[in-house]
Amino acid sequence: MANRDFRKNITSPCLRDGVVNPRRHSRVITLGRIKIGGDHSISIQSMCRTPVTRVDECLKEINTLATIGCEIIRIAIPHHSHVTALQEICARSPIPIVADIHFDYRLAIAAAKVGVHGLRYNPGNITNHQHIIELSKTASDYHLPIRIGVNAASLPDRLIQQYGGASPEAITECALSQASMLEEVGFTQIKISLKASDPLTTIAAYRCCASRCDYPLHLGLTEAGPPLTGAIKSGFSLGVLLMEGIGDTLRISLSASASNEVIAARQLLRSLGLRNEGAEIIACPCCSRCTVDVIGMMEKLEPHLSLIKTPIRVAIMGCEVNGPGEAASSDIGIAGANGSWVLFIKGEKVCKLSNNEVEASFMKRVQQVVIDKQGR
Ligand code: SF4
Repeated sequence: MANRDFRKNITSPCLRDGVVNPRRHSRVITLGRIKIGGDHSISIQSMCRTPVTRVDECLKEINTLATIGCEIIRIAIPHHSHVTALQEICARSPIPIVADIHFDYRLAIAAAKVGVHGLRYNPGNITNHQHIIELSKTASDYHLPIRIGVNAASLPDRLIQQYGGASPEAITECALSQASMLEEVGFTQIKISLKASDPLTTIAAYRCCASRCDYPLHLGLTEAGPPLTGAIKSGFSLGVLLMEGIGDTLRISLSASASNEVIAARQLLRSLGLRNEGAEIIACPCCSRCTVDVIGMMEKLEPHLSLIKTPIRVAIMGCEVNGPGEAASSDIGIAGANGSWVLFIKGEKVCKLSNNEVEASFMKRVQQVVIDKQGR
């Protein structure tokens, strides 16, 4: 009989005046040097695009992601021959690695033994009770947390029958019945994700699960799509949940580079006031008053600005209507004026920059502002 004693009724708070609600109480688990849950910051995750067997390339990708704010990285381990490469990556990675396992529980056990920091399996495709017990015992021996990664598209048939489809309740039940199985052997270093590709189902599933347990929740919307669509769908779904105080880690899944996922996650947390790292870019959409190429300038500057981890507010504006105001209220900004740019630092007009010099001069000044902020 599954032990459900740990579950308590936690009322899912509702939105009040658009203010982010108090964080849901979740127990704390440890993933490498990262603490997840409780009052710890909501951590940003992504997933490696590079196959694990290309060790140096994989590490290069991880290092780049870590530089821009990724704190946990997941790597798919589809085959036993990949475990040796995983060992080397775990030893050299600057951030904790989670091995993503499907179908074969022995891959999870092998990954645990070579230094991975956490495991993730999908209960829809590792279904044998004894295998799950063995997997959790190994995780316990190596002090690793397990993410129960439920996906609406691969729920067990019995739940689909019982609930009449992949409903939020069915998704939640799948996760909690797995948690009960792990608890049978005393394993509670558990994190749960409940992903669907539909935002409303995803929101309802997380709300349901949040009200029925105190395990930390990893937020995500699966198969979210290309960058623009995916960021909107994920930003909406995860934003609603975060506003309600639900969520301890997150990934914004995009059909794009992993860097885009990290930048999107950072911006989402920042816009909700939950994290403040990185550059907040205020840029105008342009109109016929514009005498400079704001969009072209954004495209040039954004790749540089997205590498900054220090909290900084940067404005890139097109004209004198809102430009000077926004630029002045930012740490640093430029505003178009008669075909050239005016540079502001901390509200002070500093100088005029021509189109030819603006990119290099502006980034130099931004770096100086970052150094000044770090020195404070
Ligand atoms: Fe148009 Fe100026 Fe507003 Fe930009 S800041 S949208 S150029 S009015």
